[in-house]
Amino acid sequence: MNSFQYTRSSAVAGAIQSLAKEPQAHLLAGGTNLVDLMKMGVVRPERVVDINSLPMKAIEKTPRGLRLGALATNSEVADHPLVLQDYPLLALAINAGASPQLRNMATVGGNLMQRTRCNYFFDTTMPCNKRVPGSGCGALEGYNRMHALFGASEHCIAVHPSDMCVAMVALDAVVHIRGPKGERAIPFGEFHRLPGDHPEKDNTLDRTELITSVELPATAAAFRGHVHYLKVRDRSSYAFALVSVAAALDLDGTTIRSARLAMGGVAHKPWRLHAAEDFLKGKTVSDEVFTQAATLAMQGAKAYQYNKFKLTLAPNAILLALKTASA
Ligand SMILES: Cc1cc2nc3c(=O)[nH]c(=O)nc-3n(C[C@H](O)[C@H](O)[C@H](O)COP(=O)(O)OP(=O)(O)OC[C@H]3O[C@@H](n4cnc5c(N)ncnc54)[C@H](O)[C@@H]3O)c2cc1C
Ligand code: SF4
Repeated sequence: MNSFQYTRSSAVAGAIQSLAKEPQAHLLAGGTNLVDLMKMGVVRPERVVDINSLPMKAIEKTPRGLRLGALATNSEVADHPLVLQDYPLLALAINAGASPQLRNMATVGGNLMQRTRCNYFFDTTMPCNKRVPGSGCGALEGYNRMHALFGASEHCIAVHPSDMCVAMVALDAVVHIRGPKGERAIPFGEFHRLPGDHPEKDNTLDRTELITSVELPATAAAFRGHVHYLKVRDRSSYAFALVSVAAALDLDGTTIRSARLAMGGVAHKPWRLHAAEDFLKGKTVSDEVFTQAATLAMQGAKAYQYNKFKLTLAPNAILLALKTASA
């Protein structure tokens, strides 16, 4: 591990100042991702700014919905009575991730900001445009079993590894941010980005900004009665998604008033399935309708040498998630 300076911030403004002053400063929340990356030499901060003392832990109701402080742990969110009551999809997704020990440390902000699990990104002997821009992409012609089906570029085919974020994008959450110019809010679907020519950028957060909270809209509680998070992975614990599906239905009897669908493990960002959602609106629940929605969702999918199995796995997972949610 390289040596680095350590600062503990006691105010949000101070943390932002540290980021603005030092280009190689990194925020430390639960440390479950950052510290691993530092140990492996993937990230080499000159300063680590510990934000655990900042007042960003609260989970509280707002006039617009439920605000999750950026420092609330994954366990605190998944176990919170209001999350279980109004946003059970989020609790299911969080509990499908990592392990209880990790979820006790990992925070909301850190989960959004976690880096890809592409093996070539972690292996500093291999080319990787995300780790070293311009060095090439080891996965493109390599062992790309975990990689993307949608939205990839010739520079990067990695996927975002989060489970929590798949539920958040389906629920239309909003990310609240603070930086030197003040506060701003980003719809969840616009927070993470596709790799394009700049795969080193995972999201639209400026490096001088920090996430203060994520807000779940009150309207998303309409889906609380019919949800499912299906995660397909190599082991039943401690493994990232090959494909995951967040499904939520607002039903009037067997008629679908509205649907929310998103996938994980298939793109550089949590992948919302808008076309399938539009198709499902007003339809009657049936295997045939769900199969058609899954087919629509897969339009434009492109596989690589070792992840072709996902072309079958993903629509099957969508079908099963919708069937389970509607039951
Ligand atoms: C073995 C293992 C298995 C895992 N399995 C899963 C899984 O199945 N599903 C899943 O979703 N995740 C999984 N994870 C990932 C885990 O969820 C993340 O490591 C965790 O969410 C990161 O949160 P943290 O608070 O520890 O972040 P940290 O490690 O502290 O930080 C991560 C990044 O976020 C930045 N950051 C932190 N907080 C903020 C903020 N408020 N504003 C701006 N930037 C911030 C940091 O600077 C850093 O760059 C796994 C991790 C491990 C080690
Ligand atoms: S897929 Fe992305 S993260 Fe993986 S090696 Fe290629 S550039 Fe790096």
